[in-house]
Amino acid sequence: MHRALLAFAQTLLIEPRCPICDGPWDSPMRPAALCSTCLDALTLPLKGLKGLLRLPRCALGPYAGTLRQLLLQVRQPRQGIALVALVQLLSDRLPLPATAVLVPIPSWKRQRSNPLPQQIALGLGRPTAALLHRTHAGLSQHHLNKTQRQNNLIGAFQAIPLDKQGSLGSVWLVDDILTTGSTALAAHEALENAGHHVAGLICLGRNPAKERRR
Ligand SMILES: [Zn+2]
Repeated sequence: MHRALLAFAQTLLIEPRCPICDGPWDSPMRPAALCSTCLDALTLPLKGLKGLLRLPRCALGPYAGTLRQLLLQVRQPRQGIALVALVQLLSDRLPLPATAVLVPIPSWKRQRSNPLPQQIALGLGRPTAALLHRTHAGLSQHHLNKTQRQNNLIGAFQAIPLDKQGSLGSVWLVDDILTTGSTALAAHEALENAGHHVAGLICLGRNPAKERRR
C-alpha cells in the first residue's frame, strides 16, 4: 500500500498532467500550463486581442470555439485549475503594468453571482481593490441589444471615491467576457466619476465583432 502510494506520488511528480484535458503535459512551459494540444485547439492570437472603444481593452482571444467552451466549463465547481492555466496564459501574453490595480466587475446577481472576475483578478498577480458596487440588480443583459444594455446600466455601479482609498496606481477593470462593452463602460464611468483613472479592461474572451454589433 505504502509502495503504491509512493509510486502514485512519483507519477504526479514525474508526469505532470494538463489542467484542461488531463493528458500528459508535454509543454516546456511551467507546471499548470496547458499542454500543446490544448493550446493548439484554442487557436488564440499570440499577443491577445486589443481594442479601443472609449476604453483600451485586451482579451486572451475571441469568445468562440474552444475558448468559449472552456469559459463555460470553468464556471462549474472544481474547475479551478483550468481557470488558473487560462489566467496564467493571459498574464504571459498581455502583461499588465507593475503599477496596475485590479478592479473586478461585480456581478448583478445576488445569488449564484459570477465568481470569475474576482478569481481572474486574484490570478493576475497585481493588487486587487473592490472599488465597485452594484446599486441595483438591473435586468439580465443577455437578451438586450446594445442600446437597451446601456439604458439598463445607467447608474448601475457606485465606486468608492478616491479620497477614501488614498492614491492608487492605474486601475484596470477585470471581467471574464466582454460582450457589447456596455457593462465595462458603465463601470468605467462610475470609477472616473469617483476620481479614479481607469487605464483599461482585461478579460479572457471578447465576443466577435459580428455579435457586438447587435
Ligand atoms: Zn491538454
